[in-house]
Amino acid sequence: MSAKNRSAIVIGAGVIGSAVAFELARDGWNVTVIDKAGGPGQGSTSSSSSIIRFNYSTYAGVVLAWESFQTWLDWRAHLGAAPEEQIAEMVNLGVVMLDVPVMNIAATTELFNKVGIEYEIWDARTLAARIPGIDPGKFWPPKPIDDPAFWEDATDSTGALYTPAGGYISDPSLSAVNLADAAKRHGANFRFKEEIVSVIKSIDRVTGVRLASGEEVLADVVVNVAGPWSGKINAMAEVGNDFTVELAPMRQEVHHVDAPPGMESGPMIGDLDVGVYMRPTPGGGFLVGGTEPECEPMQWIDDPDQAHMLRTQELYDAQVTRAARRFPDLKVPPVAKGIAGVYDVSSDWTPIYDKSELPGFYLAIGTSGNQFKNAPGAGVIMAKLIDYVEGGGDHDVNPLVVTGVRTGLPIDLATFSRKRPRNENSSGTVMG
Ligand SMILES: Cc1cc2nc3c(=O)[nH]c(=O)nc-3n(C[C@H](O)[C@H](O)[C@H](O)COP(=O)(O)OP(=O)(O)OC[C@H]3O[C@@H](n4cnc5c(N)ncnc54)[C@H](O)[C@@H]3O)c2cc1C
Repeated sequence: MSAKNRSAIVIGAGVIGSAVAFELARDGWNVTVIDKAGGPGQGSTSSSSSIIRFNYSTYAGVVLAWESFQTWLDWRAHLGAAPEEQIAEMVNLGVVMLDVPVMNIAATTELFNKVGIEYEIWDARTLAARIPGIDPGKFWPPKPIDDPAFWEDATDSTGALYTPAGGYISDPSLSAVNLADAAKRHGANFRFKEEIVSVIKSIDRVTGVRLASGEEVLADVVVNVAGPWSGKINAMAEVGNDFTVELAPMRQEVHHVDAPPGMESGPMIGDLDVGVYMRPTPGGGFLVGGTEPECEPMQWIDDPDQAHMLRTQELYDAQVTRAARRFPDLKVPPVAKGIAGVYDVSSDWTPIYDKSELPGFYLAIGTSGNQFKNAPGAGVIMAKLIDYVEGGGDHDVNPLVVTGVRTGLPIDLATFSRKRPRNENSSGTVMG
């Protein structure tokens, strides 16, 4: 059967769900996207810091990010959007990753060399010269701010890995809207405010989903792209028994302050040395998010619908004070500003882009707070994977290798298998 006669249900219209829908629709599938929210990009995508960087611990991860970056740079053409359509913008201002023991610069640069990503290695003096107002002190390991050692002067200094490419996407939810609109131009149908309550199966494969209204929507394949709700959908489909990695939702906060002087259009800073990442926002703001420092308990939650979705004063004080250790001129206003969001974290912080043990039921999940940037590429690899498996390919035995359309580089999907050996090179943090 050609794709033209085949139908797919995509569960979730976040940035990745909408990208999957776009690529499937472009390939000729009859696509129905179902989302319980009111529009595209209103799940975890809406709270994303939308940072674009390339340091991952796997070759496939780096290629996927580099491939997707080329797509973000060419966003309007990729979408086939008219000149008057409002689209998200790639703000390309560079990425500085401070040198820390948990992130191996030598291993990262080896991957960058293989992929062809330009970089510079900065010593502490260069870091101080290139980044206005930064304190290059080595504070490792990150400490709670009520620990007197937190305030101790650094006795050593740190360098960094810099890539001139990278930055952030101006509006993460708009990028999902853009992908949904592009998918619609290829015939995809989006159904909002419809909650999926069960997955329907025949004896040997998935056949559709049931909505809260009782309506059954049938299709040849179903793709779980439900973000932090992915575990609930897997439970409905009764899949997951053969996973080697575990998935769980994790609560996060990202705080908003004014950028320290000189950093209004400065690069993104990944600073695991104090336990935060930072990036400017249009209009002189600064986002400060966490990088899972060991001194701070991870906030695992059972149900994303029950998560406390307001920033807390406590975490604001901790994260922004850490940022101010790095940028001493950063002001920490007493009243917290920011947002809460939920990651869908896998035990090695690497996503699952795969089939499942239920024929016809596919997975784009476990995005671990680090896959917004890869959404365009994830759409492509999922469409190719579904085509391969539905065409009779045995992906578990002969994993599909997709060649990047823009880079010409191989993306071995075994890296993202639900049955992979745990990625031992993972930083164990959002950096992947
Ligand atoms: C605070 C935060 C900061 C982040 N920062 C970055 C970053 O800087 N860079 C980066 O690359 N990544 C980042 N990420 C990760 C990135 O944003 C996510 O990986 C990505 O947005 C996930 O997109 P998605 O489409 O898979 O899921 P989502 O956007 O969560 O979409 C899932 C959708 O499924 C729908 N759904 C769920 N259950 C059902 C159901 N039963 N019936 C119908 N619909 C359902 C939901 O309504 C939702 O809209 C961040 C994430 C968070 C939370």
